[in-house]
Amino acid sequence: MVSFQLSDEQDALREMTADFVKNEVIPKAEHHDRTGEYPVEIARKAFEVGLVNITIPEQYGGGGLGHLDETIITEELCYGCAGIAISMTVNSLASVPVILAGSEELKKKYLGMLTDEYCNASYCLSEPDAGSDVANMQTTAVRKGESYVINGSKAWVSGGAHAKWFTLFAYTDREKGHKGVTAFVVPSDLPGIEIGKKEDMMGQRASNTVFINFQDVEIPAENRIGGEGEGFKIAMQTFDRTRPPIGAAGVGIGRRAYDESKRYAMERKTFGVPIAQHQAVQFMLADMAIAVEAGRLLTWQAAWLADQGKRNTMYCSMAKCFAGDSAMRIATDAVQIFGGYGYSKEYPVEKLLRDAKVMQIYEGTNQIQRMIIAKNLLAT
Ligand SMILES: Cc1cc2nc3c(=O)[nH]c(=O)nc-3n(C[C@H](O)[C@H](O)[C@H](O)COP(=O)(O)OP(=O)(O)OC[C@H]3O[C@@H](n4cnc5c(N)ncnc54)[C@H](O)[C@@H]3O)c2cc1C
Repeated sequence: MVSFQLSDEQDALREMTADFVKNEVIPKAEHHDRTGEYPVEIARKAFEVGLVNITIPEQYGGGGLGHLDETIITEELCYGCAGIAISMTVNSLASVPVILAGSEELKKKYLGMLTDEYCNASYCLSEPDAGSDVANMQTTAVRKGESYVINGSKAWVSGGAHAKWFTLFAYTDREKGHKGVTAFVVPSDLPGIEIGKKEDMMGQRASNTVFINFQDVEIPAENRIGGEGEGFKIAMQTFDRTRPPIGAAGVGIGRRAYDESKRYAMERKTFGVPIAQHQAVQFMLADMAIAVEAGRLLTWQAAWLADQGKRNTMYCSMAKCFAGDSAMRIATDAVQIFGGYGYSKEYPVEKLLRDAKVMQIYEGTNQIQRMIIAKNLLAT
């Protein structure tokens, strides 16, 4: 049976998040975009009302919600500001590997740390020379008695300077290629960890994306997530849970750009009529609305499959790719509908265009998503 009807609980969750976004996020979005200041106070309030760590199981203090619920919340947060949203959603990317493959002790200690009081954890997979080609990572973890010693550099770590711990991927056996990658929890206060420069980014500027150097960082062997060599598999399984919310982020940005465009098109007049009466503008609005609806359905499907424990890799890539490309196209058309004013920082749509671009890049570029989709299609 197919139902597009949210439950009463999901409707209430969406409304509660939308209220939070209206009162706490939208009024402060311009400030955080301009200054790049990390929105700790907003995230702390979100934590207090239960909008952070929502998919961490209840026994570790989390919300115990599903991935579909997560997409509903993420769409609303990103409607407000995708950069601010990252200070709340980044924990999900770091915690999913622990939820999927961590020992009971790791779950209690590190998921508990996230749910006891507001703090962040970050995901350290990408490196300066390993993004799409992640198996080219250079970071190593060498076993030394009851410890591992980590050496290497991680790039583009979202929320990195504010994280209490990292989920980090490193080679324990380079000879084995991607089957030699292992995942670890690395507390951020250990000697040898140096937080590098914060990226001065085009969009999502509130998100604190940093470079991190790990030099002879010693962690207990029990901080390994899963077995040696299981890291690459864990990273890919993580994306099967985290790409639907990334799709939802694209839907949120796109929906905001559509709403702003519709409002403006009904007010702005040219040739004696509101521009919404010109068919060229109407068609842009219609295409925006189609893309928002279609993106949301793909995103919900991918998340629903994850909640059912079904294989969803291809659907995650479809959702992430379509919603990310749509966000970019919708935001571009929004600037067009605003005309010259769309190009000015006085109006909200130029920020949406800058925020949308990275939806085609992070968590696997949209070229990589198309490769995953094609591989799945051709395998059957
Ligand atoms: C704002 C931001 C936040 C991020 N947050 C995190 C984070 O928290 N943790 C983390 O680990 N990473 C994070 N990343 C890293 C992100 O996942 C990578 O940037 C992304 O995977 C692309 O890798 P790359 O930048 O090395 O680009 P490259 O891999 O060098 O790709 C460059 C271009 O080549 C294309 N390309 C590469 N290989 C192929 C191919 N085989 N076929 C066709 N085209 C190809 C790509 O699609 C892209 O267009 C973040 C990035 C950004 C920008």
